[in-house]
Amino acid sequence: ELHLIFHVSLADSGYGAEENYRYMEEDNMEAYVKYNRFHIEHRKHYAPNPFSTEGMYYNKEQDFYVCPMGQHMERIGTKHRKTDSGYITESARYRAKNCSGCPLRGQCFKATGNRVIEVNHKLNAYKKKVADLLTSEEGLRHRGRRCIEPESVFGQIKYNMAYRRFRHFGKDKIAMDFSFFVITFNIKKLCKMLLKGGCNDLHTLIKHLLEWILRLKLNTIVFLSYKQMKIAT
Ligand code: SF4
Repeated sequence: ELHLIFHVSLADSGYGAEENYRYMEEDNMEAYVKYNRFHIEHRKHYAPNPFSTEGMYYNKEQDFYVCPMGQHMERIGTKHRKTDSGYITESARYRAKNCSGCPLRGQCFKATGNRVIEVNHKLNAYKKKVADLLTSEEGLRHRGRRCIEPESVFGQIKYNMAYRRFRHFGKDKIAMDFSFFVITFNIKKLCKMLLKGGCNDLHTLIKHLLEWILRLKLNTIVFLSYKQMKIAT
């Protein structure tokens, strides 16, 4: 179970961004994290729009796209963007040679000149990897559990424990605030697990709990709590 907690990451599509996928990859986590079009792309009769970049043929070796009129769209450069957190994304730009007079022009794009498309290949590679994970047997199992497990924790945190807002200002203080909260939350969960396992007198409960903490080491609990904090903030 501990192995799973360290290496598997589950989250909804709100977290399906390149910087998060990269963070999880660098931390050796298996990312069972959907991206925003995952469900649309995995509908039974889904076919991509032929005018969208997903619908066009891409030649990886020679790095060009082919538009619906059969015209090669050659690479013309790279565009960088900075996210709010400072992460730099990279999109390859491709341009059609001549769109004037094309009978599909009206359906294809609205701007003036020749059509230019931008493709984030790194993000697409992450999406492909994630889609394979999510549609695997393990992925289906995680997806079935994800909708139940975190939502009930949000309910416990926000409703039962009335933790609806941070008590401090500033990133560091909030990190400290939430870290302490999740440390105690995880210890509370451990107690419940021990009680469930038949440990119902206080002395034995404390003894088992201390044994658990020593076995897991407190820094593991802090580490897991820190991870939860990082995901939540
Ligand atoms: S408008 Fe340009 S990019 Fe679109 S189909 Fe016609 S030639 Fe291709």
